[in-house]
Order: sequence, then structure tokens, then C-alpha cells
Amino acid sequence: MSIDTIGVVGAGQMGNGIAHACALAGYPVVLVDVSQEQLDRALQSIGKNLDRQVSREHIDAAAKDAALERITTSTDNGRLADAGLVIEAVPEREDLKRKIYESLAATLKPEALIVSNTSSISITRLASATDRPGKFMGMHFFNPVPVMKLVELIRGMATEEATYEAVAEVTRKLGKTPAMAVDSAGFIVNRILLPMINEAVFALFEGVASVEDIDAAMKHGAAHPMGPLQLADFIGLDTCLSIMQVLHNDLGDPKYRPCPLLLRYVEAGWLGRKSGRGFYDYAGDEPVPTR
Ligand code: NAD
Repeated sequence: MSIDTIGVVGAGQMGNGIAHACALAGYPVVLVDVSQEQLDRALQSIGKNLDRQVSREHIDAAAKDAALERITTSTDNGRLADAGLVIEAVPEREDLKRKIYESLAATLKPEALIVSNTSSISITRLASATDRPGKFMGMHFFNPVPVMKLVELIRGMATEEATYEAVAEVTRKLGKTPAMAVDSAGFIVNRILLPMINEAVFALFEGVASVEDIDAAMKHGAAHPMGPLQLADFIGLDTCLSIMQVLHNDLGDPKYRPCPLLLRYVEAGWLGRKSGRGFYDYAGDEPVPTR
């Protein structure tokens, strides 16, 4: 099963990065969104991010131009009729994703594959909302997509071997490293990373150490590129909380209990970098710890 054109549904933070990576790897891409404004913004971001790759000499100007030419945008799902693979990257709401799969059923070729970039919804459950559970699986990219090498590939209960192989091949053609996971909450990275971040918040909550010392300890003692609280601010504290809630609810183990201090920060609207304040305050030139 070889994939030619790739459709991407949802032109937000992840969708524009996915379209960028696919076009740069040589795939014609049809990028679809309900909002023309989002499509315009996505094309702008892709252009800017490709420029950055040119200025760092990761690609040349001809590769940038060719990639941009391979991307077409539309607000009409009907334009996905030629796609061999559709990557769904709309907001993390199951009802919305289900509605999109319904509309894709009327549009796509019967042999077309559908993957979801969901971070937390069961792939098996999403598959059951499509007309082709055997041709559906999870393809979980990391932000920023053009930079991050990992793609988690998640098989649902019904995913056929040929589907998995075809999506793994696309992943490799994108220059990414696939890691296979079963359909379980948090897959691999979030299952391991978020409990570590949550534990760092517990350490702060219990007065074990300050924000700065927790981050310095993990940077210099465990060789992490950034401390866990700094990383939490990057991810967004609301996103961290919701992933911990999914792990806690789905796996039912009290070890995944979200730290009450994490909940307080989210309730305060201190969501990290995106709101200007989280475990650090970003108002000045240098981030300042908020505790
Ligand atoms: P986002 O809000 O930035 O973008 C979503 C886009 O989908 C928006 O442009 C929106 O206009 C569009 N959209 C909404 N309804 C639509 C519809 N019916 N048809 C077509 N487009 C529609 O969201 P995001 O951060 O890019 O996340 C998308 C998915 O990727 C989610 O499932 C999320 O869990 C997952 N994910 C996010 C990250 C991350 O770091 N942000 C990482 C991995 C996976």
C-alpha cells in the first residue's frame, strides 16, 4: 500500500507542522480547516518555519519553494478525495473527531487510511466511529513537528497490519523515528514524562525544594535539557493537568493523582508560558520563579 497525497484535517499548531513535514518530505498535501483564517495563518507559519530551516542551512531555498508548492489549502473536506492517508489534527474533543470521521466516509476512497494525532483518546474507540476501523490508527506527533523526531504509532484493536506498515513507512519517509505503543492512556512519552512532572510539583508542594533547585537538580543531576517545572510551563499547566487526569481515570491507579498544587495553578489561570505566568513569571527579560 503506497501513499501518494496526504490530507491533513485541522490547520492549528500541530496540523501546520504536520503539513510542513509531509510537504518537505515530498508528499502533495491537502490541508483542510473550517476556518480560512487558520489556513492563512498556517501557511504563514509554515513559510516562516521553512525560512528558519533555510537560514540554518538544514534545507536549501529550492526545497522550501518546492515544499510550499506541494501544499494546497481548503475549507472543503471534499478536496480530500485523492488522499491515500488523512491525518486528523482537530482539537481534542471526541464528538468533533467523530463528526469529522463521518464526513470523511462520504469523501475518501475506500482504500484510504485515516490516522488521528490524538494525545489521549482511545484509538480503538475512535476507530469504531469510522467506516474503516482496520484502516485507522494513532499517529502521535510531537510539538514542534518539524523539529521533533519521534512519532508514536498506536494500533487500535482492529488496525490491520498493512495499515500499520504503510503508516510506519510514511513516518520513516518524514525522517522521523517511529515508536510503537498499544492503545493505552498516555501511550509512551506522556505515560512516563507527565508523572515525572507531577512528582516535581509534589516536591515543590511538600517543600522539598524550590522551583529553581528542582529544575537545577534535574538539569545537572539527571542531564535533562530543561527542568521539569520549566518544561511544564512550556507544555501548558492545563495540558499537564488534563493528561494526569486521563492517566488517573483510565488506569485507575492512585499513583497518577494530579498534585493539588498543579490544580491550583490552573484554577488561578497561571498556565505557563502561554499565559505569561506559571511556575515562572515571564513578564521580564528573565523568567522569575513564582514560589
Ligand atoms: P489547535 O487548536 O491548535 O488546532 C486545531 C485546528 O482544528 C484549528 O485550526 C481549528 O480551526 C481546526 N478545526 C476545528 N474544527 C474543525 C473541523 N470540523 N474541520 C477541520 N478543522 C477543524 O490544536 P492542536 O494543538 O494542533 O491539537 C490538535 C490535535 O493534536 C489534538 O488532538 C491534540 O490532542 C493533538 N496533539 C497536540 C499536541 C500539542 O502540543 N499541541 C501534541 C501532540 C498531539
